[in-house]
Amino acid sequence: MSDFQKEIQRRRTFAIISHPDAGKTTMTEKLLLYGGALRLAGTVKSRKSKQHAVSDWMELEKQRGISVTSSVLQFEYKDCKINILDTPGHQDFSEDTYRTLMAADSAVMLIDAAKGVEEQTKKLFHVCRKRGIPIFTFINKMDRHGKEPLDILDELEKVLDIKSYPMNWPIGRGKEFRGIYERATSKIELFTGAGHGTTIVPTKVGDLSDPAIVETMSESVYELLKEDLELLDLAGDAFNMDLVSRGELTPVFFGSALTNFGVGAFLDSFIKMAPAPHEKESSVGVIQPNQSEFSGFVFKIQANMDPAHRDRIAFVRICSGVFHRGMTVKHVPSGKTIRLAQSKQFMAQDATTIDEAYPGDIIGIFDPGIFRIGDTLTEKSSFSYEAIPKFQPELFARVHLRDAMKRKQFVKGIEQLTNEGAAQRFRNPDIGLESPIIGAVGVLQFDVLEHRLTHEYGVDISLEHLPFTLARWAVGVNLTPRDLKSMDNMVVQDDDDNFVVLFRNEWAFNWEAERHKEVSYLEHPPTKGT
Ligand code: GDP
Repeated sequence: MSDFQKEIQRRRTFAIISHPDAGKTTMTEKLLLYGGALRLAGTVKSRKSKQHAVSDWMELEKQRGISVTSSVLQFEYKDCKINILDTPGHQDFSEDTYRTLMAADSAVMLIDAAKGVEEQTKKLFHVCRKRGIPIFTFINKMDRHGKEPLDILDELEKVLDIKSYPMNWPIGRGKEFRGIYERATSKIELFTGAGHGTTIVPTKVGDLSDPAIVETMSESVYELLKEDLELLDLAGDAFNMDLVSRGELTPVFFGSALTNFGVGAFLDSFIKMAPAPHEKESSVGVIQPNQSEFSGFVFKIQANMDPAHRDRIAFVRICSGVFHRGMTVKHVPSGKTIRLAQSKQFMAQDATTIDEAYPGDIIGIFDPGIFRIGDTLTEKSSFSYEAIPKFQPELFARVHLRDAMKRKQFVKGIEQLTNEGAAQRFRNPDIGLESPIIGAVGVLQFDVLEHRLTHEYGVDISLEHLPFTLARWAVGVNLTPRDLKSMDNMVVQDDDDNFVVLFRNEWAFNWEAERHKEVSYLEHPPTKGT
C-alpha cells in the first residue's frame, strides 16, 4: 500500500450527535484525552462558556475571530488519525449542525441513559440515516440510575427504527453499576468510578470464571447479568457488519464519559468498524479518495464576527488527493483559480498553518467572498459533488428594516447572508423583498443574522417572529398563492420562485393537505423543472 493510501485508510472522520446535556462535551474531552495530543479548530466549549448567553458567545466569536461553537478536532489514536466534527448543540443549534453531518463518514450517537432518545438526537439521526452512514451508539451516564438497557434498545428500534447490537453490556445499575461485559470476548472491565479527572483510568479486566471479578458483584447483579446475556443471545439482533456499514444496525456501547469508563473500549471498537473515507458521487460519476487530483467541498462558512476583519473562513472537507500548502485550486462554480496560501487548520488556541492534509481531513481556508455552501474545489477538473441539501426551517420571522434610507444595504446584506447559508430567505409574493421572511432551524441563526446585519452592513432591523413551525414546498399545475392560502397559513416564495406554505403545526398541514389533493407538498424544494 502506498503512503498516500495508508494515510487515507487510517482516517476516521465522524460527528457526535446528541441532545443537549447528554454529555457530548464531556465525551469529546475524554476522546481527546485518549488521543493524547490534540489539534483542534475552535475549541471544545469549556464548561464555563456553555453557560454564556448568546451575546457573550458573540463577544467570544469576536475575540477569537473564529468559530467557537463549531470545531474540528484532530488527534491520533493507535494507528488512526481521527477527525471529530463538532456539531453544536443547545441554543446554537442551526443549519450548520446539519451541514456538518454532510462532511462526516460516520456518526456517534450519544444517549443519556436516563433520558433515552431525545428530540435533537432524533433530528440529527434522521439526517445521518438519509445519508446511509454508519451510526455507533454510546449510552452514557451509566454511573447513575437510568432506564433499563433493554428498554433503551427497544426505544432505538421503536423511535428511530434502527436495529441495534450491544457490543458490551452493563453490569449492575446506578449505584450498583460494576462495569461492562464485552460480548465478543466475554471479558469484563470493572468500573472503579475513579476517573473524574483528566487521566486515563487503568482498567481491571477479567471474566466470569475469575472469583475476584465475581466477588465485586452482589448476587442479584450477577444473576441479572446472566439473564440479560442469555436474553440478548436468544432474542437480540445478530451482528452484521454490512448492516452496520449501511447504517441499518447500530453497535451499542455502554459507559460513563464523566468517569472515563467505557470510553477506551468504545474507541478501540470504533476505529475497527468505522469507515475510512470512501468514494463520493459527483457530476462525472464516482470519485475515489485515492485519485491523485485534490478535490473537496465547502460544508460550512464561518464569517468573522469582528467588523474590522471582514474575512470569512470556508471549511472544506477533502474528498480526494492531497492538499499542499500554497497549492492552486479551482473553485468549480465560478471557474476561478485560488491559491491556498493561507489555508489553516485551527489548533488549540492558535490557528496553525498546515502543510499537508488528506481525504477525510477538514481545512479552513480564507474565503475571498466567492464560496457558497456545497461548492466543489478541484485542482483543474470541472466536476461538482452533490449539493448539500437545504434543511427544513422550523422557525420563521419577518425582518423589518428600521431606517428606510438603508434599504440597499439591507437587501444586499440579507441576500449575501442567506446565500452564504446563514438562514433561508423567503418573500411574500405581494410585498417582495421589502420585509423578507427568514427561516431557520435554530434561534441562534436569527441572532447571528441580526448581529451581522448591524455590524457588517450597518443596518438595524427588528424581527417579528411568526407562529409557524413547518414549511412545505407546494407543487401543482398553475398554482397561485390564492389557491394555497387559508386562514392560518402563510404563502411565500423562495429564491427560485417556488411557492412555500408555512403552517403552524403538523396538524394544520395535514388538514390542508387533505383539502388540497391537487397540490403536492414537498419537504424540500422541487428540483428544477418539476
Ligand atoms: P453536552 O451538553 O452534551 O455537551 O453535555 P456535557 O458534556 O456538558 O454534560 C452535561 C452534564 O452531564 C454535565 O454536568 C456533565 O458533568 C454530566 N455528565 C456527562 N457525562 C456524564 C456521565 O457519564 N455521568 C454523569 N453522572 N454525568 C455526566
